[in-house]
Parts: sequence; C-alpha cells; structure tokens
Amino acid sequence: MNGQAKVIAFANQKGGVAKTTTTLNLAVAFAEEGHRVLCCDMDPQGNLTMSQGIDPDTVETSMYHVLVHHVSIREVIRRREIDVACASIDLAGAEIAMSTQIGRERSLEKAFRPIKDDYDFIFIDTPPSLGLLTINALTAADKVIVPVQCEYLSMRGLLQLQNTLTMIRENLNPNVDIEGILPTLVDTRTLHAKEAIELLEESFGERVFASRIRKTVRFAEAPVQGMSVLKYDPDGMAAHAYRQLAKEVLHNGQR
Ligand code: ADP
Ligand code: MG
Repeated sequence: MNGQAKVIAFANQKGGVAKTTTTLNLAVAFAEEGHRVLCCDMDPQGNLTMSQGIDPDTVETSMYHVLVHHVSIREVIRRREIDVACASIDLAGAEIAMSTQIGRERSLEKAFRPIKDDYDFIFIDTPPSLGLLTINALTAADKVIVPVQCEYLSMRGLLQLQNTLTMIRENLNPNVDIEGILPTLVDTRTLHAKEAIELLEESFGERVFASRIRKTVRFAEAPVQGMSVLKYDPDGMAAHAYRQLAKEVLHNGQR
C-alpha cells in the first residue's frame, strides 16, 4: 500500500467488551498480511501496552507527553509484534491537562501527521468513556470499529456512541464513520447470545460484521505472556477468528 495510513479507532464506552483484545489481535492479523501497523494505546490503564510485554509503570515517555507536551510520537513507539505507541499511568491526567489547551480535541490527529507515511494502518485503543481521550481518537480516525458484547444492555451504549459520532462529524471530523460493529465474547451455546446478535442485525443491518469472536480462555492466557493470541496459539480458533475479521475489513476497505 502507498500513501497515508488509514486510522481506525476501536471504541465503546463500555469496559470489558474486547476493545483492547480486538485492537491488538486485528493489528497482528493485518501485519501477517504484510501491512505496516501501529497500535496507539490511549487508555490510561495501559492494557494494550501490557499485552505486548511492556510495563506501563516503567514507561517514562508515553502518549501523555505526546498529547500534553507535544513530544514526537516516534519517541514513544516500541517495536514488538507490531509497533506500539505506549500508555503510562500519567495518561489518566491527560484529560485535565489538555482541557485548557486550544485545539485540545486535535492533539492526537496532529501527533499522527508526521508518521502517516510510515504506516499503512494506525489502530487506536480507547478507554471505556466518551471523554477527551476518546474524542481525540474519534477526531483522528477515518473509521471506527465498535466491539460489542452481545447482551441487551450494551445496545443502549451503542446509541450513545452514535450520538457522540454525530457531534464529532458536525464539529471536528466530517468524514468519520463506523467501519463495522463486531460481536465479541459470543457464547454460541446460549439462546441469549443468538437473540442478541439478531437484535443487533435488526438495528444496524450491514454494519454488523459477518465475523464473530467467540468466547475462549485463550484470550485471557495470551496477554499474561505478553503476546497476541495469533502468536500464543497460532492455529487456534481465536487466531482464526481475527484473521477472518482482517480479511473482512481489508475487503470492505477496497469497495
Ligand atoms: P476492553 O478493552 O473493552 O475493556 P478487553 O479486551 O480488555 O476489553 O477484554 C476484557 C476481558 O475479556 C479481558 O480479560 C480479555 O482477556 C477477555 N476477553 C476478550 N475477548 C475474549 C474472548 N473472545 N473470549 C474470552 N475472553 C475474552
Ligand atoms: Mg481496554
């Protein structure tokens, strides 16, 4: 691929829906297809940073310094399975530190500009809120992938996210749009999961990916080893599911 990186944010203000898991494993699946991918960790909890074997507590320069002090993003990128722009615990203070800055919603977009030729894709992992860090991610993004755990309560959250996206389009980033909604943590044995996916498809139609990510313990095991599931269990069902999703996203992008 030539030209500028396509930026995809992974967002849902609900925690525990597999945002971080999806950001990392889809990135590794894209890298397996030969794409140059950067993962940017915008969550102060630093789970994505940790899941590549980096301790956010010992990271000295992180996305906090990029956003607040305009340090070059190149200084916080570490090379692992994919490149990671690291989070640290400081990032929790970024929203307050940025709140008085002019252009506070565009800090991330600006930080990406000098590196957009270096990557084919930039993936952004976001925190479980619709605060300034997530707004920065949605302002910097071309597309948004929304992981949802298939249960009735999570549908309400989706409408809230759509309202935020409408606001972002009106004020900050006219072209940002949902790339797809991804059913995660699917327990195929339960009727509830089936019904929840049907409801999701009724409400959001073709925006729901054909790929589904089923529940498996592999996703809990891999991050402890500082690895993606594609590396931890390359031939397993979990790795296969994210490779399938990569094909779907790459194919949709060509339409
Ligand atoms: P989020 O970033 O949305 O908070 P995570 O990606 O951290 O969510 O996932 C939440 C928890 O669920 C983690 O412990 C993760 O290992 C686990 N998990 C993610 N995907 C799956 C899956 N398909 N099956 C089982 N556990 C999963
Ligand atoms: Mg997370």
